[in-house]
Amino acid sequence: MKPVPEKVIFCTLRLEPPPLDKLAQKLKADGRAHALFDLWRNLVNQPNALTFVLKPPRDAKAKFHICADCGQAFSGAELVFRHFRQQHAEKAVKIVPKTVEPPKGSFQFVARCGLCRSLLCPPNYHEFSARLVAHHKERHDRVPFDEFRAKVANSNSADDVEAWRKALSVTEELHCAVCDQVVVDERSLLDHVRQAHADRVEKTEEELAIPAARLRQLECRDIRRACNQIWDKEKKEPGHFLALLRQALSQRGLQIFRDLLGHQYACRYHPRRASERDQLTPRQQEVLALAGAPARRGHKPNRHTLRDHFAAQGVAEADVKADADALVRMGLLVELENGQLDALGPGSHIAT
Ligand SMILES: [Zn+2]
Ligand SMILES: [Zn+2]
Ligand SMILES: [Zn+2]
Repeated sequence: MKPVPEKVIFCTLRLEPPPLDKLAQKLKADGRAHALFDLWRNLVNQPNALTFVLKPPRDAKAKFHICADCGQAFSGAELVFRHFRQQHAEKAVKIVPKTVEPPKGSFQFVARCGLCRSLLCPPNYHEFSARLVAHHKERHDRVPFDEFRAKVANSNSADDVEAWRKALSVTEELHCAVCDQVVVDERSLLDHVRQAHADRVEKTEEELAIPAARLRQLECRDIRRACNQIWDKEKKEPGHFLALLRQALSQRGLQIFRDLLGHQYACRYHPRRASERDQLTPRQQEVLALAGAPARRGHKPNRHTLRDHFAAQGVAEADVKADADALVRMGLLVELENGQLDALGPGSHIAT
């Protein structure tokens, strides 16, 4: 079988709205800042979150071929017809048994294959050599021919000779299942179906959209490979997918900002500095000062350190929590997903 030439298929990703809507809702509900990288890592592995969009090579005549029966997509017409023959056999072919004259002649022996025990044909039958070669090619091509040949033995049982004669007196005739025309072999069956009934078998498309969840069921290697290549690349390191995610989240009303190292975050609130108009209480100002100060021993404060800090002044935990919640809602205090608190100030990790 000659290998299918590798085709260049242009493949890009599309993010599916439902998982994005769900994600956006979750981020809005908790109000924390989530590293876009973590969100990407989570989402890129979810097959229901993405769809591959494929286009054929830039030469305008190429199209994708879709099985009209089940929707399987292929990169070439040859492939879709072969699929139709194999997967929808009852719609492609009718096999009609037919009796023919049994071979004439006097046969005392019939050769039997030593490897699979099937009857081949009598040694004095005119097709003997050809049958041997064909059987070897069909069933035992991993065994050297000489080894196979050496194991062929003759049987002189009359039953075996008769069984062989009988087998040859019944042949199968291939008919096109659509119009009942007789065809000589599989090759001409495919040619006939392609010429006479192409519209029953295939549709062509200039662009394909394949949900990642359906990737495993794809029969066409070219298409599967194109999708897997781009998916593997996106799983290893964020590329196009991360840009799509950022765009999709900001379209859903989330704010995107960066820290000093360039990492991106998505959050319901955009970090900002406090102004006069915010009318903060002294305690709220103190919270912001703590969160905006340089990290101590590498750590930014979190809600526990705030609680402990203010407990020393006799402030109740619920009051500290209310202050923190209010400041987060105002966009003045940034609460990261890992619990660290930050605020714009001299020691902030947030890029302004
Ligand atoms: Zn099909
Ligand atoms: Zn055999
Ligand atoms: Zn036909």
